Amino acid sequence: MTDAARNISEIASYHAHIYFEPETRAAAERLRGFIGERFPVRLGRWHDAKIGPHDQSMYQVAFNTDVAPSLVPFLMLNHAGLSILIHPNTDNPRRDHIIDAIWIGRRLHIHADVLPETGAPEDAGEINTQPTILQDTP
Ligand code: ZN
Repeated sequence: MTDAARNISEIASYHAHIYFEPETRAAAERLRGFIGERFPVRLGRWHDAKIGPHDQSMYQVAFNTDVAPSLVPFLMLNHAGLSILIHPNTDNPRRDHIIDAIWIGRRLHIHADVLPETGAPEDAGEINTQPTILQDTP
């Protein structure tokens, strides 16, 4: 363990994983609409079956670091009881998901064994929303 602090420039982008069950899918749809109307992000497709390290159905929201200061608090206030995992994307996906993530709502299990400990930091990808509602910035 070194004394040097990690620099936030390690973070290439973030993901928010928005989890749902059949009973809460409507809430997840509503939140997805809210996000798309307000934030320049990449909305991932619906995964109704478990995928990768995730233990519940979910969709992913990929976003650049400049969106985090407004999107993260928006999710805190509007998650409607859904569990949301927010993790940075650095060169260590396992650490990103398990050690360095934040949760909104109830914390769920993450299958760490399928996450590599090294990898190229993932960028947010192409934005696929066209926000029309201006969001306050902190
Ligand atoms: Zn992710």
